[in-house]
Amino acid sequence: MNREAIIQGMKERVFAANLALPEAGLVKLTWGNASEINRELGVIVIKPSGVPYKTMKAADMVVTDLAGNLLAEGLNSSSDLPTHVVLYQHFEKVNAVIHTHSKHAVMWAQAGRDIPAYGTTHADTFYGAVPCTRQLTVAEVERAYEMETGKVIVETFNDRQLDPLAIPAVIVRGHGPFTWGETLAKAVDNSIVLDEVAEMAYMNEIIQPHCETIPQYLLDKHYFRKHGPGAYYGQK
Ligand SMILES: [Zn+2]
Repeated sequence: MNREAIIQGMKERVFAANLALPEAGLVKLTWGNASEINRELGVIVIKPSGVPYKTMKAADMVVTDLAGNLLAEGLNSSSDLPTHVVLYQHFEKVNAVIHTHSKHAVMWAQAGRDIPAYGTTHADTFYGAVPCTRQLTVAEVERAYEMETGKVIVETFNDRQLDPLAIPAVIVRGHGPFTWGETLAKAVDNSIVLDEVAEMAYMNEIIQPHCETIPQYLLDKHYFRKHGPGAYYGQK
């Protein structure tokens, strides 16, 4: 396939993923963005900034190089592009990134708390608590806010020695969730699951304020039957 055809396919997938987010109830107005990277080709395709979903077309998707520089005349990229770029630079197996302000994940971000792994719904997708970053500093926000948002996510995963593919989501303190995956379809699913488990965890703590997290052996069972070399869930 030639370069143009590959980029066209990326634009169609990124467009469809961006539409899937409001459809799943994760995005209101234009509060979200999805992107995909092709490292061999050296391109990132991302949603344009502030274009209403009703009038958005696949052709409006913005194409940049791996540093986030525009490669063609067109619309401005999502203002969160620098966050996506930093995540692609540091999470080498990640090929798609999504940001939303989905309500329940944002609630945990605003509370400044990790989302605990309370059950197997969580464990099927996230191998442990979904981390909440530290607050950005004044200097970071004033210097290069979107890039620093990416850096604080990477810092959180490095400091806690987390594998971004085993926990394909984060919540940025006071802001909201970023999710990712090896494919855009997986990243969309991860965004949906994240908001579901965020809501369940919130309700759990109302029902049982001292709710225990899922035991390690059950977390292992559910995560590893779906992921990794020993996975057996689903169809071959
Ligand atoms: Zn945001």
